[in-house]
Amino acid sequence: MTEALLEVTDLVKHFSVSSGLRGRAASVVRAIDGVSFSIRRGETLGLVGESGCGKTTTGRCVLQLERATSGRIRFDGSDITDMNQSELRQVRRSMQVIFQDPYSSLNPRMSICDILAEPIKVHGLVPDKAKREERVRELLAQVGLLPQHARRFPHQLSGGQRQRVGIARALAMEPKLIVCDEPVSALDVSIQAQIINLLENLQARLGLTYLFIAHDLSVVRHISDRVAVMYLGHIVELADRQALYEEPLHPYTHALLSAVPIPDPKLEASRERMVLRGEVPSPLNPPSGCVFHPRCPIAVDRCSAEIPPLREIRSGHWAACHLA
Ligand code: SF4
Repeated sequence: MTEALLEVTDLVKHFSVSSGLRGRAASVVRAIDGVSFSIRRGETLGLVGESGCGKTTTGRCVLQLERATSGRIRFDGSDITDMNQSELRQVRRSMQVIFQDPYSSLNPRMSICDILAEPIKVHGLVPDKAKREERVRELLAQVGLLPQHARRFPHQLSGGQRQRVGIARALAMEPKLIVCDEPVSALDVSIQAQIINLLENLQARLGLTYLFIAHDLSVVRHISDRVAVMYLGHIVELADRQALYEEPLHPYTHALLSAVPIPDPKLEASRERMVLRGEVPSPLNPPSGCVFHPRCPIAVDRCSAEIPPLREIRSGHWAACHLA
């Protein structure tokens, strides 16, 4: 088995929220509540869950854009949890991010050439200007753009082309890990497949490792080696892609899978759907016991009293459910 590039152990991130009233104690948003996973070198781990489940905060903690409340993060053989800013500077180069909305993350007043050349210059990767421009052309080619795109500005590109620039900007730092935070959610379905294929090709060529965050199980299916499902700050299931899609163990994963449309109209019409009742509870006041129990169609008395630990039910297949 390949060595882990990233190891996250018991990660907790709580945010204090002021009540705004003098003398009132601040409330605590339990965004992540004890999350553990690892990603092997060259692997893609899909991290899936509804909005507000803590997946983006998990990505931000991995990137050290948020400091964890507790827990440890090891990256490339070093514990980065308590590193200071200068130590982190070096590590951050090796960990890059691709955002959901490339438009808002690209400076509208800078040409594509400048957007890609700036971080290369700031980090002193290619000091010579002519060589830097050559590197920009190389990056554009790697993401399927043409040399003439270098002279354009973000508003002159399509959504898919802008996301390719976002990917090129991440590649410019020669990273080992890329956190892909909903990188195709803002794109048309036809473009989504192109971007996923591009990320897969880059991974094969450059040996990249991805943490791929999405709210939709259908998006991560093609790109992930393993998938972790998050609900209200917890990982509730973690397994190889095939095992998770074909033999899910957690009722929440069942529900997410039953919401994914099947292209065959006959199969789609005949299958049973699991519709969850209610909304995701607030992380300000999470339910007792299993956090999924108020919405779980098979909950028993024990579920509201006891927290189900994430257990390895089959080899490599983990689930947090008393009945799994
Ligand atoms: Fe449902 Fe209980 Fe399993 Fe939670 S522990 S998923 S409430 S059956």
